[in-house]
Amino acid sequence: MKHLRSLREFIEELKKIDDLQPIDLEVDWNLEIGAIIRHSYDLRAPAPLFNNIKDYEKTGFRILGAPGALSAQKERQLCRMALALGLPANASGQQIMEALVAAHERKPLPPKMIDASKAPCKENIQIGDEIDLFSFPTPMIHGNDGGRYLQTYGINIVATPDGNWTNWSVNRMMIVDNSRLSCLIPPLQHLGIIRAKWAALHKPMPIVLALGVEPAIPFVGAMPLPEGVDESHYLGAHFGEPLEVVKAETVDLPVPATAEIVIEGHISVTDQDLAMEGPMNEYPGYNAHDASPKPVFHVSAITYRNNAILPVVAAGPPVEEDHTATGTMHAAEILYNLRQAGLPVSSCWFSFESANHWLIIAAKSNWHEQLAIHSKDLAQKIGEIVFTGKTGFGVPKILLVEDDIDITDINQVVWAFSTRAHPSHGEIYFPAEPNAILFVYLDPTERSTYKATKVIHNCLLADRFSKEEMPVKGSFENGWPLDIQQKVLRQWERYGYHT
Ligand code: MN
Repeated sequence: MKHLRSLREFIEELKKIDDLQPIDLEVDWNLEIGAIIRHSYDLRAPAPLFNNIKDYEKTGFRILGAPGALSAQKERQLCRMALALGLPANASGQQIMEALVAAHERKPLPPKMIDASKAPCKENIQIGDEIDLFSFPTPMIHGNDGGRYLQTYGINIVATPDGNWTNWSVNRMMIVDNSRLSCLIPPLQHLGIIRAKWAALHKPMPIVLALGVEPAIPFVGAMPLPEGVDESHYLGAHFGEPLEVVKAETVDLPVPATAEIVIEGHISVTDQDLAMEGPMNEYPGYNAHDASPKPVFHVSAITYRNNAILPVVAAGPPVEEDHTATGTMHAAEILYNLRQAGLPVSSCWFSFESANHWLIIAAKSNWHEQLAIHSKDLAQKIGEIVFTGKTGFGVPKILLVEDDIDITDINQVVWAFSTRAHPSHGEIYFPAEPNAILFVYLDPTERSTYKATKVIHNCLLADRFSKEEMPVKGSFENGWPLDIQQKVLRQWERYGYHT
């Protein structure tokens, strides 16, 4: 496990494997940077590092785009995720999942408070009248955005009034003016639950927004750990060493020591103190049109590193970080929960290409021998675990397959779904489950109640066939004798092929 302790160490690792594109040509923070990031997703091009940003030439400030996107490199498609989580650049999806589940079995490690003089995030401090959110080259990302989004890949750190629960999460935030942001805070998410506790005391909620943090932090911020659990402790267990933090200047909260930019302050808790937020495109992949008044983040201090680097995600159609980072962390938590319940599950994976609308669950091939129940009943048990908890909030559809399918390969998933799910009775429905509201197919009632029907597509075969009659994929490996396979592979280039 190689624990990268800063965004800069992460950038160095990307450089080494040729998955970073430094851009020295002047680029405009107004839409051009967002468009470059989007095009880089579409091409799976190296992550752009913008070194020369219009209106900010003299500041030395930079932007890293697509920090957790996919790479076009064949054996290293997941390298940005893998390196961020301390794994080798060529780690597979399954290996990433197993590492994340394994961290659950280890003792949680709280962060270590270090001396502020050793923390790069304190190199520069703005306080009082000096505070200016426009100091940084925050991009106008999409053509239809309601404003400049400073927070797309940072971490929001808040604590309950009694101090017993510190929560680390990622939620978008838009600049309102020099010293205010407007914030998306869904009431069912931990950030919203903790804000409600402050609201009950009529006190604004202290908050730290840390941008450009060490690369694993946004991942754990996207992980649906249970209420009351501090995400930084899980990350400590994952790396086998604590995160290093320092005290914030104006609020009683921890700050990751190597953060590039830290925004401190308080979130409003009354309906009298709101500011317009949105629209901003989101991960289902459609242009957004919704703007509404949202809670206000009043900034009381800003600290930052010299030549600070702001990471930026241009959310939208797959595959971007909402799919890779959020999808992977959710799937890992779901896999852990299913295994804890004793179900014979090999792995889980969100098909990024489905914009995370398809969660794929692979049952062990011998599930039927192990459980002696009908596949519908297994699906029912799985749905009850996945859909009812926090982990299932953003999971509308599950494809349940056996583990002969590589569930990280969308081609195999599509083949299994289309050929194995029965058209008339292959679905198991779960009505009125807690539901995220971003899915475009929802009706107004489902959207306002946060409740909608969910489905499991049953693609299991083991209870429908005897072992002898089980359908076998007519693949290269299964359809020809070994000596013929070997001969063909050996002679492939002699046939005239170059790939
Ligand atoms: Mn949490």
